[in-house]
Amino acid sequence: MKHIAVIGLGTMGPGIAQRLARGGLVVSAFDMETAQIDKAKAALPLINDVLDKLGIAPKPGGEVRFAASLAEAVKDADLIIENVPERIEVKAEVYRAIDRLIGAETLVVSDTSGIPISKLQEHLSNPERFCGMHWSNPPHIIPMIEVISGAKTAPETAKAIVDLIESLGLLPVVINKDVAGFVENRILYALLREAIDLVEEGVIAPEALDTCVSWGIGYKLSVIGPMALLDVAGLDIYHSVASFLNQELSTRADIAPFITKRVQEKRLGLKTGSGVYAYTPERGKELAAERARKLVAVRRALEEKDGK
Ligand code: NAD
Repeated sequence: MKHIAVIGLGTMGPGIAQRLARGGLVVSAFDMETAQIDKAKAALPLINDVLDKLGIAPKPGGEVRFAASLAEAVKDADLIIENVPERIEVKAEVYRAIDRLIGAETLVVSDTSGIPISKLQEHLSNPERFCGMHWSNPPHIIPMIEVISGAKTAPETAKAIVDLIESLGLLPVVINKDVAGFVENRILYALLREAIDLVEEGVIAPEALDTCVSWGIGYKLSVIGPMALLDVAGLDIYHSVASFLNQELSTRADIAPFITKRVQEKRLGLKTGSGVYAYTPERGKELAAERARKLVAVRRALEEKDGK
């Protein structure tokens, strides 16, 4: 695989494009909005700086080229990575447009966070050449990528994506069933449901909850996964605690008023200056830089542990 097209340059696209270019690949990047292309161009030096700090040496031949049209971006691409908004109708329209421009050999993947792959691949004439490639945000820093096959995905398609991820020195995780949300987001959303419920019920303040999770289980989970943690804690302990605690945990199927109220009030988080917490634009930028710096430091420490 030599030439990859990245379609959609919002939150995810620029980091993915630059990470692939570091791996020696030629990347054609495209967005339908000129302003997004300009933003992506401005973001690349910052992303490169982080990749330098992560110690990821550039392989020769890699570069990000910005394309003026979808047709230019996908021309001669071996693989197309779709990163447009998480709405089936938007993605379907992009697939139909791509379908008219590519040959049967081109692979197409979606970075969807959780739309079943079987639903997405219906919009392409060669659904066997399509699968999910779910990066985690920020995609140039987080090494784990989920690979999900839909009902019609050929095994060679998923294998080619796994091989690509490994060739970049990243960590593919194969998901065996095409379930909504795949695995990373199912676990995250289970945690978020309980966290929101505890705050809403007044059990804990938001700041205290964040300290509890980040410096308690979160800190631990970065060196030991939940399945291995069961062995460390003892399955008998899990059995006795779960016998009363599972009945207490939130099972709500709707969205908590804590969230819906804020969404109605357009308190959407960092992008609107308030959500759970309040932010000035300067503070938002400071936090983003601080978090990127810490993620780089933690990743380097974890790689050291793994003997890399
Ligand atoms: P975003 O809204 O930030 O960016 C989407 C970009 O796609 C925009 O720049 C938009 O102009 C562009 N776009 C829309 N229609 C297009 C078209 N027809 N042709 C070309 N460009 C078009 O979205 P995002 O957060 O980058 O998410 C993209 C995908 O990645 C989604 O499926 C999302 O679920 C997934 N994802 C997001 C995150 C995250 O944390 N944001 C993490 C993992 C996966």
